[in-house]
Amino acid sequence: MIKPHGGKLVKNLADENLREEAKELPRVEISRDAALDSENIGYGIYSPLEGFMCQEDFESVLYHGRMANDLAWTIPIVLDVEDSLEEGEEVLLCHRGAAVAVMEVEEVYSYDKKEYAERVFGTDDLQHPGVRKIFTLKNKLVGGKVKFIESVDRRFKEYDFKPEKTRKIFEKWDYIIGFQTRNAPHIGHEFVQKSAILAVEALTGGNVGLFINPVIGRKKKGDFRDEVILEAYKTLIRNYYNQDKVFLGIWKTEMRYAGPKEAILHAIVRQNFGCTHFIVGRDHAGVGNYYRPYDAHEIFREYEDLEIKPLFFKDFHCCQICGGVVSESICPHEGIKFSGTHVRRCIQNSENIPYEMLRKEVVEIISKFDNPFVVEEDEAQFTGD
Ligand SMILES: [Zn+2]
Repeated sequence: MIKPHGGKLVKNLADENLREEAKELPRVEISRDAALDSENIGYGIYSPLEGFMCQEDFESVLYHGRMANDLAWTIPIVLDVEDSLEEGEEVLLCHRGAAVAVMEVEEVYSYDKKEYAERVFGTDDLQHPGVRKIFTLKNKLVGGKVKFIESVDRRFKEYDFKPEKTRKIFEKWDYIIGFQTRNAPHIGHEFVQKSAILAVEALTGGNVGLFINPVIGRKKKGDFRDEVILEAYKTLIRNYYNQDKVFLGIWKTEMRYAGPKEAILHAIVRQNFGCTHFIVGRDHAGVGNYYRPYDAHEIFREYEDLEIKPLFFKDFHCCQICGGVVSESICPHEGIKFSGTHVRRCIQNSENIPYEMLRKEVVEIISKFDNPFVVEEDEAQFTGD
């Protein structure tokens, strides 16, 4: 089994005593995204992080794409607060009054939002949803260890597996391919995943499994809603996948739309879940035209020390001359592109989705939702208790 990033799987969960003591601690209200980050820290999804980043790591990540100890890390995991926290004190992090985690305040520091945005997203354009989020943060950051108490999002429990669990499940395979998604799957996605299984099988001769790992959490307006993504995958897997070769589980976090830098974070997280390989497609974690289609492929050249291995894929298309689903590497013709945007447009205009694009069972599932898309970028989309 591949080791977690940095060598050790973090497990920072509050025990009964701490939960009891926590009731007396000063309370600090945090955002939903930060609450999910606390959960990701607590269960080792962000291993080796044991808490929110202090200034040295934060700046090292911004300027070098690595933590202060040189370990690969591209997206700051930080907590924004008002000024009033004191270094050395323990606080209870809460979201809408509910206890999320206990934090040891190690350092409170100032930061420059414009610089943060430019370094992570390559732009400070407020049209970019990730940039917009940075500018809504409070004015100070606080670093320090976190002990996680309770999730703010208890939806989809039967698909919510933490690394300790997935690492056990994946023991039956020699190699595990991670697939990141924030989309209902079209046939192009399916062929990328299946080709990846074949590729790793061909290279290694080993028993290869696929971990389909949708991101559940805040997304931008127009993206598929969480429940649609999950239902669509359940249907696709049931009807078109070899059940011994695939595992579906969610990862609760916001989409950041940081393109190449987010691709590195996505790979690191999947290593922590136990994946040996990670699929990087065209415009991975991109938005608009902020990144070139294969920026997320190129950035991996600077991270050859990553233990998880990227699998680079270009888009597949449907070619009537070749007679099937192919990619530009193996088909010399002009085919029909699989386009998430096209699928979305068909749904929005109540037009029929062409079956060359989506499996009919997936179309049927999507059609059952009155509105399969995120309407607002706020928290209203979450119906969890
Ligand atoms: Zn062709």
